[in-house]
Amino acid sequence: MPAKLLILGGTTEASALARKVAEAGMPAVFSYAGRVDRPREQPVPVRVGGFGGVAGLARYLRAQAISHVIDATHPFAAQMSTNAVMACAATGVSLIALTRAPWSAGPGDHWTRVPDMDAAVAALAGPPRRVFLAVGRMHLAAFAAQPQHRYLLRLVDRPVALPLPGASVVIDRGPFSVESDIEVLRHHQIEWVVSKNAGGTGARSKIDAARQLGVPVLMIDRPAIPARPEAQTPAQVLGWLAHSGVNLGV
Ligand code: NAP
Repeated sequence: MPAKLLILGGTTEASALARKVAEAGMPAVFSYAGRVDRPREQPVPVRVGGFGGVAGLARYLRAQAISHVIDATHPFAAQMSTNAVMACAATGVSLIALTRAPWSAGPGDHWTRVPDMDAAVAALAGPPRRVFLAVGRMHLAAFAAQPQHRYLLRLVDRPVALPLPGASVVIDRGPFSVESDIEVLRHHQIEWVVSKNAGGTGARSKIDAARQLGVPVLMIDRPAIPARPEAQTPAQVLGWLAHSGVNLGV
């Protein structure tokens, strides 16, 4: 069977991989969940929307004759990553995850680590503060349990309705710089940054900005995902493909 890749996307790293795969002339499909209005264009064919759980993904892999899945989703997309492990195991399709190391606190960082989103909500109990809530649109509702704070949200699309009335909203998809995030934290007089431990460079600037300003960070640890082979760079993924006998065409 000729090789055909499925790239599970939605991250900067997934887009970087798609560029390399296109340069190598490999047949590939790029998959978005469909969470944002205008996803970035890709140099390979794109499909959008859920597959329908493990069974739906397994059906898709068979129907599209996918030989290799590269899970380049965000480290907090635990459901998709778990489904990929299970569907690939069920169909015998090869799987690798393109991951990035989590961030770790260094000198000058004031982090409180919490294990998950619920713990982050609980940790915000206390007097009103100005909080930069950088957790993404899907998780905002949980923070309505701490309505005393003045929240700043940064979102890719303007929301139709917000579960946090009174929150300030900045619409911006980045990329962001440390300098501009220092300006954002200063302008909004931010006293807490709440962040997922995404790792990588795409979402890092707010953490560096918080360090420089001495602003404390509530850092949410990553969810658990079943063990799978992992690569840290697109080049390593291409190496894995070549190793498994795929002709990269360059
Ligand atoms: P999730 O909770 O793990 O996934 C929920 C469901 O969304 C999955 O079961 C799947 O539906 C569908 N899905 C997720 N990623 C998909 C993809 N790449 N292609 C097709 N369907 C997908 O995921 P999430 O945290 O909502 O993240 C959704 C997307 O946003 C991912 O592509 C992720 O890379 C990106 N993203 C997430 C975060 C974050 O913090 N979570 C941050 C930046 C970008 P079915 O079960 O129906 O297949």
